[in-house]
Amino acid sequence: MAEAPRMPDECGVPEMDAYLHPVMKKNYGAWSWHDRPRPGVLHHVAKGGDEIWTVRAGTQRQMDVYTIRKLMDIADEFAEGFVRFTIRSNIEFMVSTEAQVNPLIEKLNAEGFPVGGTGNSVSMISHTQGWLHCDIPATDASGAVKSLMDELIGEYTKEEMPNRVRLTTSCCQINCGGQGDIAINIQHIKPPRIDHDQVANVCERPTVVARCPVAAIRPAMVNGKASLEIDEKKCICCGACFPPCPPMQINDSEHSNFAIWVGGKNSNARSKPTFHKLVASGIPNNPPRWPEVAAVVKKILSTYKEDAKDWERIGEWAERIGWPRFFEKTGLPFTKYHIDNWRGARANLNASTHIRF
Ligand code: SF4
Ligand code: SF4
Repeated sequence: MAEAPRMPDECGVPEMDAYLHPVMKKNYGAWSWHDRPRPGVLHHVAKGGDEIWTVRAGTQRQMDVYTIRKLMDIADEFAEGFVRFTIRSNIEFMVSTEAQVNPLIEKLNAEGFPVGGTGNSVSMISHTQGWLHCDIPATDASGAVKSLMDELIGEYTKEEMPNRVRLTTSCCQINCGGQGDIAINIQHIKPPRIDHDQVANVCERPTVVARCPVAAIRPAMVNGKASLEIDEKKCICCGACFPPCPPMQINDSEHSNFAIWVGGKNSNARSKPTFHKLVASGIPNNPPRWPEVAAVVKKILSTYKEDAKDWERIGEWAERIGWPRFFEKTGLPFTKYHIDNWRGARANLNASTHIRF
């Protein structure tokens, strides 16, 4: 008898209940108040009187199995065996007595994991996959993050910024990193170079044509082979054609650089959510430590720390003093690339409601 076919094993995201600390499970939705006894520690008190302390530590995100085991051993020995990761790759340990907090912090520090990232600190950077996990990156977001946080560790372990500072990075212009007070994103500045020999073998041409947001790609015959051509006047160098068709070579050591954007915010607190704005571009993509990126980010952060009023986010500060003053104070050059005068969206963008993948 033929064996039954193997069925896909897809369970989706597991129910979280099994992984919640028992105090959190018991008091789910019944918390009364919370405070932060020190940077990196949250203290929650439930309506019924139960208390829980959460200790937050920074990780390098791309972790080998030995580092993960080390963190789990710390959780078992010092923290009642429960952890969770935040979206910014911080690890949080939960304990139900205050007496466990200091030994846990000492152990984490001794093992090289800084405790902090809460309140008005520079928390870990939410970032994209980089070379290890994605197939289209122009840089290694995770590496840039590790290098940058090595330099910003003093602002991670203290809460001395005017308000919280949330950074993001993205390793291509599709930007799955999202909005941030400071966003550090790769920016391509030239259209893709097409490897015509490969297109017919590798790409589904209609898919590639449909991907382009400004309809700049057309099918074409090149040297007798089915290929594609790009209207370079229309191309906005977004890189969206590269994932479905790697022969659309957009990554380039000279023309794929870092750009830094400022003033993005997801929350509704104090002011509306905002999009970030370009403040620096053409910064070299310079692994393994990306020192030029760090220099610009540190300059923006130190100016913000010195100049902003209490509780102003970076975008709110820039809006209050005005963007010309922002460039003056940070010393970043204002160039023609900062002027967004593109008015072609209505005529050029693929605005159809049909999804064509
Ligand atoms: S930002 Fe781009 S390259 Fe980086 S993980 Fe996201 S899609 Fe991949
Ligand atoms: S998808 Fe983006 S990079 Fe590719 S041709 Fe269109 S605009 Fe240019």
